[in-house]
Amino acid sequence: MLRTLSEDTDFDGQVVFLRVDANVPLDKGVITDDGRIRAFVPTLEWLLAKGAAVVVASHLGRPSGPEDVGLSLAPVAERLGELLNTPVALIPGVSGPLVWSSVDALLPGHVCMVENLRFDPRETSTDAAERLELAMEWADHVDATVVDGFGVVHRKQSSVYELPSLTNSYAGFLVAKEVEVLTTLTSDPQRPYTVVLGGSKVSDKLGVIEALLPSVDHIVIGGGMVFTILKAQGFAVGASLLEKDMLETSERFLAQAAENNVTIHLPTDIVMAEGFSPTASHVVLGVEELESGEVGSEAMGLDIGPQSAQAFAEVVASSKTVFWNGPMGVFEFEAFSGGTRVLAQALTTVTGLSVVGGGDSAAAVRSLGFEESAFGHISTGGGASLEFLEGSVLPGLEILGWQR
Ligand code: ATP
Repeated sequence: MLRTLSEDTDFDGQVVFLRVDANVPLDKGVITDDGRIRAFVPTLEWLLAKGAAVVVASHLGRPSGPEDVGLSLAPVAERLGELLNTPVALIPGVSGPLVWSSVDALLPGHVCMVENLRFDPRETSTDAAERLELAMEWADHVDATVVDGFGVVHRKQSSVYELPSLTNSYAGFLVAKEVEVLTTLTSDPQRPYTVVLGGSKVSDKLGVIEALLPSVDHIVIGGGMVFTILKAQGFAVGASLLEKDMLETSERFLAQAAENNVTIHLPTDIVMAEGFSPTASHVVLGVEELESGEVGSEAMGLDIGPQSAQAFAEVVASSKTVFWNGPMGVFEFEAFSGGTRVLAQALTTVTGLSVVGGGDSAAAVRSLGFEESAFGHISTGGGASLEFLEGSVLPGLEILGWQR
């Protein structure tokens, strides 16, 4: 059973290493969406109220090393301080004398952060001995580890796997909630159950779709990944995103869906643009004539068309369980955000369980102005939630006692 935080766990005077996923989107050092920070604040505040001294640790992006100052957690520490109404000090390091002396001096009820964990190559090393070495250093200075970053539980990394194995370790509230909701999706979904997939990469997502085929009723596909599937069906897709080496897999998947009586919903119209830019001129074309616009085979599909969006919205709105991963188009560009917006709107009307999974999808619904409370659950982990649904082993959860 997943070890969770309970009233009878004694944290008074203990030093807790709180591993979170504060891997927020940044634009020139400014956080553009702080959802991942707000998501772990309840766990942090609970630990502080229980008298723990809390060291918050996270990764950010894929830094080459500490010299990658653009990936410092300084903006995160600042934002966290604003949310807690008290400044949060960032210790400039991941290990070493300065880090240890600061952690040892931290008082109960106080919080600090350490730098981007990936500044230390041992965090993500493929060599288990190196990961263990870093974890052992930390285990000398903390009493317990709480993991509240769902976005990292599918990875065997020092702070997610080795450190929790060396200290008392628990899942934070966010991780516990994610596991509960995703378990409902895999074990007892209300019907009709619809999965909506979009985003950019077919290769990331086809494995999940195949694993879900026996348990879902409808699969709705949009976003950049749809062009590989349309191409597999024989449509010309111009210069749209295409993963050629996934064409055969896509064909196999369509056949399997038919065998499982799953209805696959594909777009009937697409917004085809002259190029990949927010101001690219564009036209709505039927899927059988995607290359018939002015730029012909140079055109790129950047959103599903309005007819498709409407049809998809109807499938979603009449479902009792919906899991949505991946935007329907390049929602970052206003002109190509229509499909994602219509889908998100439909999702807010679902009377059963609606789950938005994936960093980009969660950011999309927030940036389009939807209230988080309009959805049943917004998952913070894209890859992790997909791997959970796919039935893969999640090392960061198993080390916390969870078994499928
Ligand atoms: P994550 O895996 O980070 O949690 P996600 O699963 O929600 O995120 P991704 O697969 O990463 O989503 O894809 C999101 C990206 O896909 C967005 O940046 C969006 O602009 C892009 N995208 C959507 N539709 C298209 C399209 N038609 N052409 C090109 N890119 C697209």
